[in-house]
Amino acid sequence: MLIRLEDIKDEGLELEFEEPRSIFPLLADLQTDEVVFLEPVRVRLRVFRAGDMIEAQGEVSSSVRVACGRCLKEFIQPIHSAFELTYVVELPEIEDESADGELELDAEDMGLILVEGEEIDFAGVIEEQVLMALPLRPLCDEGCKGLCPQCGADLNVSQCGCHPSEFGGKFAVLKNFKIDKS
Ligand SMILES: [Zn+2]
Ligand SMILES: [Zn+2]
Repeated sequence: MLIRLEDIKDEGLELEFEEPRSIFPLLADLQTDEVVFLEPVRVRLRVFRAGDMIEAQGEVSSSVRVACGRCLKEFIQPIHSAFELTYVVELPEIEDESADGELELDAEDMGLILVEGEEIDFAGVIEEQVLMALPLRPLCDEGCKGLCPQCGADLNVSQCGCHPSEFGGKFAVLKNFKIDKS
C-alpha cells in the first residue's frame, strides 16, 4: 500500500488490490465474534498529479457477518466506502493578507496531507475507511421487531403471549413514577 512518488506520472496510476484485514492493526483487533470478515479488503485506487499536488481517489469494499442489534440474528453486510484525498510534498505559500503576519496554516487546515519522505502510505486511510463503513448498530432489517424482552421470542417469527403485558408493564412503570419535589 506504499506508492512511491516517482511512480506517479502525469497520466496517473491505477491500482486494484486485496489485503487481508489481519494486516490492519485496528481491524485485526476487532472482536472476531462480533464482526467476521468474509472477504479480504478490496481496494481500488487512482493516484494522479494535479499541478504541485497529488490527488488520490479510492474505494474500499468488503463484506462482514454481524449480528442484528435487535434480534441477534446473524446476517451478511456488504461494506463500501469511497474517499478523495489531496497530498502535497511541500506546503503551498500562503499570501498573508493580515498585517501582523501571525497567520499560520498547517496542511490539515488546508485539507491537505503533507507527504513525508518519498512515498505515500495508504494503509492508514484504507483502514480508517473500512472502520467507518462498518455498521455501528447493525440491523437485519430496518423494520426488525427484535426479541420479546420477557420471553426472548423472536417477534419477527411469531407473536408471543406476553407481548401485551410488556406494554402494560412499561406504562405502569411510568404511571408510578413520581418526581419528589420536596
Ligand atoms: Zn433483526
Ligand atoms: Zn414474550
